[in-house]
This record gives sequence, structure tokens and C-alpha cells, in this order.
Amino acid sequence: MLANIRIVLVETSHPGNIGAVARAMKNMCMTELYLVQPKVFPSAEATARASGADDLLANAILCDSIQEAVADCEIVIGASARSRSISVPELPPRECAEKMVVEAQDKKIAILFGRENSGLKNHELDLCQSLLAIPSNPEYSSLNLAAAVQVVCYELRVASGIEAAKPKELENPLASSAQMESFFEHLYQTLDEIGFLNPEKSTSIMRRLRRLYHRTNLDTKELDILRGILKKSTAVLHKKI
Ligand code: SAH
Repeated sequence: MLANIRIVLVETSHPGNIGAVARAMKNMCMTELYLVQPKVFPSAEATARASGADDLLANAILCDSIQEAVADCEIVIGASARSRSISVPELPPRECAEKMVVEAQDKKIAILFGRENSGLKNHELDLCQSLLAIPSNPEYSSLNLAAAVQVVCYELRVASGIEAAKPKELENPLASSAQMESFFEHLYQTLDEIGFLNPEKSTSIMRRLRRLYHRTNLDTKELDILRGILKKSTAVLHKKI
């Protein structure tokens, strides 16, 4: 479905930015890159900044006009930092991405990114059904071109529901509720035995300790270590007595 969404860069001046865009796209599983009259392309600088995403550069489609780049698209979105007087809806990236991944099931979509120094012109924005604005510092709202593409592609990837890289498997499973309860019982007995618990305050202390240990998501190995410490401390106490 992301294959139906293309990134269109309009008259990009710095080839390094084109490379960085290719990298940003490939990181997020986006493949379709269109270049409208780039100042310098192909370029060694673009390839260097693409850093392994040069397949996207090699497959990039060069166009003479935005019209040509979006001709077969049913939906065109313009990414713009500046709030425009044009009365087209302006969406933040998350909302826009959520809508676009649904539309992309049976439509082609283009997202336009403007020139580094002057963005997109009003007559170019006239081609767009909506604008996409990344919320940013109102006094310094313009992101680097590739950074703006990165934010948008990230939101598209999340919205498309592609499974993100799985978190690393835990070395040991997390302690179960039953294991935690048995630990708390052990902890209570030990604290009682060593004379730490004041009968009037024992309930509130135990509640605080529960909260503390629950916060740390103990795994079974860590729980074993804590229980080992409890066992040892009572053993030492009994020896002394
Ligand atoms: N100086 C230009 C901005 C150029 S940044 C201007 O004032 O318009 C290059 C491109 O990155 C912009 O045309 C736009 O497509 C995108 N971009 C940068 N910041 C953005 C933002 N906050 N929201 C949406 N797109 C942004």
C-alpha cells in the first residue's frame, strides 16, 4: 500500500538532500521517489548521503513538471511549513497519514515537498487537495527537507501498520503475578523477622514496596536474586541469635 504513495521533490537545490530523502524513505519502507527538475542529479553527494538507499536514487523518476509527476495520482498533498491563506484543509502528519493509508488501498497519492529556499509556490499548492503541516516552533517552523520527509514517512509507516522492528526478546521471562505474590509474602516475612516492620505501618510500607517492585517489571532471574538475598539475610540472623 505504501507503494501507492510517492514522494515528489520539487526543484531541490542540494543533491545531498535528495540522498538524505532516499535514506529517510527506505528506512520507512517507502520506495517511490519523483524528482521535478532537481538542480543537480545524479550526483556523488546524493549517493553518499543516501548511504545504502541508492536503489531508490537509481529508480527515481525524473520529471519536467509537477503536473507530469502527479498525472496518474488521484490525491495530491502539499507539505508546507507556512500557514497559507489558500482555503484547502491543512492536516498534521499523523492525521494525514492515517487518511492516506486508507486511500492508498485503491488510489495513487503524491506528497509534494518544496524547494529548500522558497518552498512550494501558491500555484503549485493549487494542485493539492490538502496541505500537510508538521507542527513546529512558530518562530522557526521550516524543517530541513529530508527531515520533513522523514517525519511524514515515519507517520505513514506507523499508520500502515507494518510491524515495526520487534523489541529484543527478553533474556528471561517476566515474573508472573503468582511469582510476584509469593515474593511479596517472602519479603513481608523477612522484614518482619528482622524487626523492620512496625505493626502499625506494615500495610502502608508493604503497599509502597509493592508499587516499587511492580514499577521495575522484574524478570524471573531478578526475582530469584532478590529471594536469594532475603533467604541469606534471615539465615545470617538465625546464626547470630
Ligand atoms: N523556506 C521554505 C521551506 C523550505 S523547507 C519556506 O519557507 O517555505 C523545504 C520543504 O520541506 C518545504 O517546502 C516543505 O515541503 C517541507 N517542510 C519543511 N518544514 C515543514 C513543516 N514544518 N511542515 C511541512 N512541511 C515542511
